[in-house]
Amino acid sequence: MENIFEIKNLNMHYPVTDGLLGNIKGYTYALNNINLEIKKNEILGLVGESGSGKSTLGNCILKLITPTNGEVIFEGENILLKNKDKLKDFRRKTGLIFQNPYMSLNPRMKIFDILKEPFIINGIKDKKLIEEKIKKIVKLTGMQEEILTRYPHEFSGGQRQRIAIARAIILNPEFIVADEPVSALDVSIQAQIFNLLISLKQHLNLTMLFISHDLRIIKYISDRIAVMYLGEIVEITDKQEFFKNHKHPYSQILLNAVPVMPGERRENKIIPTGELPSPNNPPNGCKFHTRCPYVMEICKTCHPELKSVSQGHNVRCFLVEKSV
Ligand code: SF4
Repeated sequence: MENIFEIKNLNMHYPVTDGLLGNIKGYTYALNNINLEIKKNEILGLVGESGSGKSTLGNCILKLITPTNGEVIFEGENILLKNKDKLKDFRRKTGLIFQNPYMSLNPRMKIFDILKEPFIINGIKDKKLIEEKIKKIVKLTGMQEEILTRYPHEFSGGQRQRIAIARAIILNPEFIVADEPVSALDVSIQAQIFNLLISLKQHLNLTMLFISHDLRIIKYISDRIAVMYLGEIVEITDKQEFFKNHKHPYSQILLNAVPVMPGERRENKIIPTGELPSPNNPPNGCKFHTRCPYVMEICKTCHPELKSVSQGHNVRCFLVEKSV
């Protein structure tokens, strides 16, 4: 399958300054040497604990923040080298769905004006076209036209997230980052939003980076899964392979948090030790070695590379290298 994005050697290191003089006293190593391909028309699930760098990666891919270095290739061009004017086309082709549907909609604007805003920003003034498009998207996202004259506070969390999704897709983007889009919603509503995103992917040929800390959610919606730990990708493969044949100890720990069906037993239940280290002071060697139940001497000093273990399945762990 063709790639829509190729991310090469991407780093995001935020300077940490002292309060008084603003001198740099260190760095927060939010992303470290990320290499990643996103295939056209897939949902790539990005999973990891809070603080692992998932949202930072999503924001760098959309150039909402500028990474320290690296490349983000979209349809053959490095978008990090484009200035504001040349980014306009990229902005129209991409979108973002936020976690919190309460914060992401302007409470003083009617829904019609919220959905009209992306057209105005992109210099589209044809009133008839705008109206037709808004009505079509409202229907596609499972809502009624009567919402258009109302304000965000009149809606439930699930309805607001539908409106936020409608706004994100109103200009027919090719790619969406959905950053924890169901975390703030009741469990009963989550499935409706998943189904909406899956159906939009199919109807509009969308590609999606779906970010979540919860592997249950990622399992439901993703075609491929990338696991992040402390600013690095530690495992990436397609969904079936991941759930049948995951290799990284951290992936196993995330899987332990997914409930099993009644009567099912979980093999190899492993328990992590300690807390997630600070990205200001990451451990030497394998970044997971301070918590890994299988840690070896080499893990404390040498940094494992992300290596292929089978077609499309890459893992960053010395244990796996030994067994391949
Ligand atoms: Fe654990 Fe070592 Fe593998 Fe890191 S490299 S995950 S510490 S076994």
